[in-house]
Amino acid sequence: MAENQEEPSDTQTGEEQPENAEESEEKKKELEKLPPFEIVGGERFPAFFFKFQFRNVEYSSGRNKTFLCYVVETQGKESGSFRGYLEDEHAAAHAEDAFFNNILPTCDPNLRYNVTWYVSSSPCVPCADRIAQILQKNKNLRLSILVSRLFMWEEPEMQAALKKLKASGCKLKIMKPQDFEYIWQNFAEQEEGEAKAFEPWEDIQENFLYYEEKLSEVLH
Ligand SMILES: [Zn+2]
Repeated sequence: MAENQEEPSDTQTGEEQPENAEESEEKKKELEKLPPFEIVGGERFPAFFFKFQFRNVEYSSGRNKTFLCYVVETQGKESGSFRGYLEDEHAAAHAEDAFFNNILPTCDPNLRYNVTWYVSSSPCVPCADRIAQILQKNKNLRLSILVSRLFMWEEPEMQAALKKLKASGCKLKIMKPQDFEYIWQNFAEQEEGEAKAFEPWEDIQENFLYYEEKLSEVLH
């Protein structure tokens, strides 16, 4: 019977075609260069991502990544600061997870940390829970999270997670137009030569007020 016929397949023999061997070796090398967990990071991201990923639209359709820009300031015997961004595909680890796995895996008890995140959307329930746990465990860590959009804020489970996050000491805020400008200036790649001025989108202020009202309803 037709459905029982199996097509012979080269890929099942385990043998590589000689002409492809070099190419697949190249691919392997490329994969090894990628950071783990499908997380991309760096100092600045391409400018065209900015307007799409950070735009504070009411519904985040098509935006299936989280962009997280961070500024870490330490005070104590080693004072200093560093910054960068992380981007996830929502496939494996989330950007929030990646921050605590890769960027700040431990907090030195002799230092005080002031961390600010600028994130394209508010955290999901498991991320919010993990952040709250980390803040409860590390009293020398202060975290402010500024978000452009609220994620699933109508869900009671999400609302409870955001309340827990606030109770843990996390400052959760909606990004104002000047916060978007800050990201644009500090985290988006600028063309060589003169930096382009930030161009706010038409409904930026209106959407900020919309989300700010929703957040205060959730956290009241
Ligand atoms: Zn998450």
